Amino acid sequence: MKAKPKDWWTKPRVLTLKVRWAQGFFASEIAEELGTTRASVIGKVHRLQLPAPLTKHDQKPRARSRVRPTPPAASPRVASPPVEPPTGPVHFGDLERQHCRWIPGEVNTMLFCGDTRSPNSPYCAKHTALSYTPSRVRSQPA
Ligand SMILES: [Zn+2]
Repeated sequence: MKAKPKDWWTKPRVLTLKVRWAQGFFASEIAEELGTTRASVIGKVHRLQLPAPLTKHDQKPRARSRVRPTPPAASPRVASPPVEPPTGPVHFGDLERQHCRWIPGEVNTMLFCGDTRSPNSPYCAKHTALSYTPSRVRSQPA
């Protein structure tokens, strides 16, 4: 038989070709394993439209790593919700939900602390600590 029969590329051979090609073997190495010529392997690779060779001797970093460059270190402040700076005393008429209800001075001034309240407390962290004894705070369920 002078020429290879058209169906020389049997499924097992094609499979071997695809696997070896994907593993980065040279066409000449695959040809040797299959008992054919390098030209035959390359021709089949082209007909199968296999992706460009990724030789095992020269593996380049995957393109994916270039797609996502390391982002600059995120500032911790970006991740957390904006925290308003202490606003100082807030008049009763300007009180909002988040304002600490602690009255630092005379009650009749109608001026409240105005810092951001702690969760489940009418007061900010500082005044929550002042308004409860430490043992009571500790005994409260989280
Ligand atoms: Zn306060």
